[in-house]
Amino acid sequence: MTTLAVHNPATGAKITDLPADTAASVADKAAKARAAQPAWASMPIAQRMACIAKFREGVVRELESLATTMTRETGKPIKMSRNELNGLLGRIDFFLQQAQAATATETVFDEGGMTEQIQRTPLGVVANISAWNYPWFVGCNVILPALLTGNAVLYKPSEYAAMTGLAIARLLHEAGVPQDVMACLVGTGEVGSALLAQDIDGVFFTGSVATGRKIAQAVGGRFIKLQLELGGKDPSYVCEDADPKAAAESLADGAMYNTGQSCCSVERIYVHEKIHDAFVAAFVEAVKGLQAGDPMSDSTYIGAITRGPQLDVLDAQVADARAKGATLLVGGQRGPGPGNWYQATVFSNVNHGMELMKEESFGPLIGIQKVSGDAQAVQLMNDTRYGLTAGVYTPDGQRARALLAQVKAGSVYWNCCDRVSPRLPWSGVGDSGVGLTLSVDGIETFTRPKAWHLRAA
Ligand code: NAD
Repeated sequence: MTTLAVHNPATGAKITDLPADTAASVADKAAKARAAQPAWASMPIAQRMACIAKFREGVVRELESLATTMTRETGKPIKMSRNELNGLLGRIDFFLQQAQAATATETVFDEGGMTEQIQRTPLGVVANISAWNYPWFVGCNVILPALLTGNAVLYKPSEYAAMTGLAIARLLHEAGVPQDVMACLVGTGEVGSALLAQDIDGVFFTGSVATGRKIAQAVGGRFIKLQLELGGKDPSYVCEDADPKAAAESLADGAMYNTGQSCCSVERIYVHEKIHDAFVAAFVEAVKGLQAGDPMSDSTYIGAITRGPQLDVLDAQVADARAKGATLLVGGQRGPGPGNWYQATVFSNVNHGMELMKEESFGPLIGIQKVSGDAQAVQLMNDTRYGLTAGVYTPDGQRARALLAQVKAGSVYWNCCDRVSPRLPWSGVGDSGVGLTLSVDGIETFTRPKAWHLRAA
């Protein structure tokens, strides 16, 4: 039997060997999903909504053990695991509130015996290939609206969050979603690759740019829907009229929350020269106050690095910054093993010749660059191939809006950061991806608008 070994990144210890999928089992699940989807789609939407509402009850009932599972397999601090699951409840509520209206047939013209309508039909069978860093969020952003709109879902969770992926599928099945309509595929990228070879109507991917590119190539020419939610190098600019301490505390959290392993982690900070030194001092103090340690402890803020190979990326970015003259203010090394640990690390005197200001770090590492004013800040914020989020800190709302209007990013923040709302579309520009999830658009994206031209005889 093929298996997938699951390790605890905080200790390096093996947790379990999960039965894994093979090319044959992937093909079997895809064929079953194809056969089961029409009956699911023809159910009244209220019945599908009832299943998702029951799924929500399951999440609430099992929240503590689901949080523990996620923390064990990803190294996410337990409080943040609970936060993710509690945050998921708000997303479910949003989907349930909006699903009916978002999928209702709309009459857009009705005159002289001619009626025009737009009907929202499901795409059919969709593949969801997902990431590990917020496995409940990124998995459910696709799975729940896809199911509500009548699709069958072939869900390939990350190999670093496979136990969580199986828990999502189990709770959906227990809530009444048929096994064949919602299948979980366990395995590494090979299983993801096998999934892409099936007869599917859409691919919804969350993960790295490198894998996103492979996926786009694999389905290129097949004319199926493709959405890619990829990485970022998200900037924030602190203006000279901002409160340096308040901005530093907010941005330290934005850079280090989830051990810096968020797609919308703050990854670059630009500070006006007039308050640069005060900001840096407050930022370093805030970072020094973040407790690293056992992810299962309630007082832990910095947890483990989920993927071992990312430690090499962090080491290389730190070495590059040091070699090019950056000032290391705190951290700068791996933490003691066993397990995958990296110290919260802050550099100042950085510039765009350094990797840590150009390439996604995806860890507790941040560079702070001094700028002379708004024009330079905007130019540097836009000096990137990514465009997921960007923020500005200033008490002046007009100034913030004027600055953020010039920044290329899917989401922009005034006096906040690292924030996702179910009510707003989540999307990126450039290498941060194509398509979107969340918001009403993020429900409609799982449907095909069918145009009806109806003339009464
Ligand atoms: P990854 O690209 O390594 O893996 C993502 C998924 O793709 C996994 O399930 C993996 O098994 C699968 N996969 C790997 N190779 C494949 C192939 N050839 N064909 C099909 N599937 C394949 O990414 P990751 O490490 O899981 O996630 C981290 C990345 O995700 C970061 O870059 C982060 O910024 C990004 N991310 C983006 C968002 C967003 O909303 N934009 C959200 C979360 C994470």
